[in-house]
Amino acid sequence: MALAECPSCRKRVSSKAKECPHCQFVFAGQSEQDLEREFVRIQQEKRDKLVSRSMLALLLAIAGFVYLFLQQPLPETWQYNVAIGVLIVGLLWFVINRVQLLFIKRKRR
Ligand SMILES: [Zn+2]
Repeated sequence: MALAECPSCRKRVSSKAKECPHCQFVFAGQSEQDLEREFVRIQQEKRDKLVSRSMLALLLAIAGFVYLFLQQPLPETWQYNVAIGVLIVGLLWFVINRVQLLFIKRKRR
């Protein structure tokens, strides 16, 4: 039984399988080029999603920063804590998305 690579999740699957047991991606009746195109399309979709998510995260971080800068809430108040929290979560989320984006790009053939 030959093994092939799922174009969607890149896991090893039987070349005779009609769909991927890991991600349910259907590859029955698709040619090599179709599968490659589908793989590129899925990767592109993932990239787009990560880019828009990282933009949202950056916006969140900027919002927290702008609030701190303009309103200058006193330390120990809840406004200050929330603004710092939003800033940190936004930055962390942004970094995580960027790292995932790099990982997807590196997997590309
Ligand atoms: Zn799969």
